[in-house]
Amino acid sequence: MDAMPHPRGATAPRSLETLPWVNSFARLAPAFYTRLEPWQLPDPYLVCASAEVAKLIGLSAPEIARPEFVQAFCGNLLLPGTEPLAAVYSGHQFGTWAGQLGDGRAHLLGEVRGTGGNWEIQLKGAGRTPYSRFADGRAVLRSSIREYLCSEAMAGLGIATTRALCIVGSDAPVQREMVETAAVVTRVAPSFVRFGSFEHWRARGRVDALRELADHVIDRFRPELRDADQAYVALLADVSRRTGELLARWMGVGFMHGVMNTDNMSILGLTLDYGPFGFMEAFDAKHICNHSDDSGRYAYAAQPHVAQWNLYALAEALLPLIGAVDAARDAVDTHFTAAYNEGFLAIMRGKFGFTAALARDEQFISDTLNMLQFQRPDFTLFFRNLSQLSATAQAGADAPLRDLFLDPSHCDAWLADWRARLAQEASQDAARQAAMKKLNPKYVLRNWLAETAIRKARDKDFSEVTRLQACLAHPYDEQPEFEAYAALPPDWANGLAVSCSS
Ligand code: AMP
Ligand code: MG
Repeated sequence: MDAMPHPRGATAPRSLETLPWVNSFARLAPAFYTRLEPWQLPDPYLVCASAEVAKLIGLSAPEIARPEFVQAFCGNLLLPGTEPLAAVYSGHQFGTWAGQLGDGRAHLLGEVRGTGGNWEIQLKGAGRTPYSRFADGRAVLRSSIREYLCSEAMAGLGIATTRALCIVGSDAPVQREMVETAAVVTRVAPSFVRFGSFEHWRARGRVDALRELADHVIDRFRPELRDADQAYVALLADVSRRTGELLARWMGVGFMHGVMNTDNMSILGLTLDYGPFGFMEAFDAKHICNHSDDSGRYAYAAQPHVAQWNLYALAEALLPLIGAVDAARDAVDTHFTAAYNEGFLAIMRGKFGFTAALARDEQFISDTLNMLQFQRPDFTLFFRNLSQLSATAQAGADAPLRDLFLDPSHCDAWLADWRARLAQEASQDAARQAAMKKLNPKYVLRNWLAETAIRKARDKDFSEVTRLQACLAHPYDEQPEFEAYAALPPDWANGLAVSCSS
């Protein structure tokens, strides 16, 4: 699966004022959005910017360095050709119908023609909208840094995701549990349409709007689905397959989204809306990364089931277009289940260094996950350190793995099994180790790393955000200068809790 939904190909350099805006979402019927201008952000300053994302829309370093860049990407300056709007959607939150939601603090500026296709550009945290409900329309620096770093880290891992162009900060106070400061994060994606964008019209009985939105998605992003017998069934099947592939990738790197509500699920199968996410550290399949998730609905091991539940909600929303309940249910069951199961099995085989597909592999994987549950090694380091071991036991050489276990004798027993499995395909150490390192990242965005960058940023030192981003852009490479970022969480990080507060 590509990290980027678009093929590559360079975009010629442009200035901020000559970005070619297209704005197809703004061409939908007015009921889909409210046109409105972002708020002014007092005394804005640049926190960080991604040269890679800027390049996608043809902006180079000198454009990023202009004061107008900061003004444009906090909402203070409207670039020619933008048509700012907030989109409406609804959704199920924690399994319950939440009714109308919408972009409560997101302004879609429009869509720029760029490398491999069009990119929607959205400001998050630039003021209230008619969909803000009781909230203030702002985002804080802390959550903006987490979203920025994680979306770029996921892209580095090769996992489908929305991207982040930059963060603009301000000293303007924003009340959360404590008083924090405001920031605007600029997000970039082919589309921000969510499952909940469809649920919204279904709940209102608006089949015309449902069809208009489905046609928008098909015509812009999946034109090949027009050739299917039933394009809307094909759309649901496509979303189900991509969501299954996405979930297999999440599970393979120990990513936990934290708030898999249907309004946070992308119709394009992108990772969307980074809030209280986490990466698995000491392995616990029941781990809940979101402090606000009391029931563990979005725990690590629950994620594939939740994704399928969310797809049923989408299927239900599309029912007036599809007609037959069986066809809708089958599209989800067949395509999600196959994509997830096959994807997860292939990813896990690769993570263990197996190239052959043997019948006993599923049992091996499930036994291993059970073993990890009791031994609690760090998930990332378990696979990364395994990637350096030999297929033949050598005295002392297994220490990097053994040291992660509560009881190293369990590691020895498991390694004997692993080696017996490798012997069934005459695995060569050098080739296997190189292949495993391309699947088992050394660097993931651990909470303690994000927290370190956030604490420094509060003192106006943004260097750690930039350094972390540089490291996480190449998570599978050995980067000696960033060795410390691969370490287990320090003691001070034990109490870190992330919640929905953002
Ligand atoms: P989330 O839990 O972040 O996915 O947000 C759920 C809904 O609440 C979405 O409609 C958001 O736009 C809205 N929302 C969250 N935080 C704010 C805020 N500070 N101001 C306005 N709307 C918000
Ligand atoms: Mg959301």
